[in-house]
Amino acid sequence: MPIQLVCRACRRPLTAPLCWTDETNHVVGQDREPSVLAGLAVRLSNESASSIHGPDGQIVGVHVFSPAGAIATHPDDVPPEALRSTGVDNGCCGSDGSDGPNRACLCGAVVGTEWSDCWTQAELRFHPDAVEAVPAD
Ligand SMILES: [Zn+2]
Repeated sequence: MPIQLVCRACRRPLTAPLCWTDETNHVVGQDREPSVLAGLAVRLSNESASSIHGPDGQIVGVHVFSPAGAIATHPDDVPPEALRSTGVDNGCCGSDGSDGPNRACLCGAVVGTEWSDCWTQAELRFHPDAVEAVPAD
């Protein structure tokens, strides 16, 4: 049964109707290659993070891009008017997602991260605590 992601705070729909698929269908590429096919949603079981290195190469922290349980979608399934830029939203000609969450719902709730730069994958990844999957109409 198709589902739709809605903002947990205000219940606004954030995506088109989607079907769940498994993680083998999530492949992070580059050069704006979509990491998920349109019409599909993938729940990622692992946190996505990278180590932050200090001046001497030692690990001084961890930068979490998305927590475990985040939901990956194709950008075409997210209407452009549903989200706005927030937080640190850098990029060359799009959003590079390197600074973590960069998209908010119109109500202001931070809901996830967009990757849309020329050298990154094309993906909108929603935070598990910020959205809810409801049956699509
Ligand atoms: Zn909202």
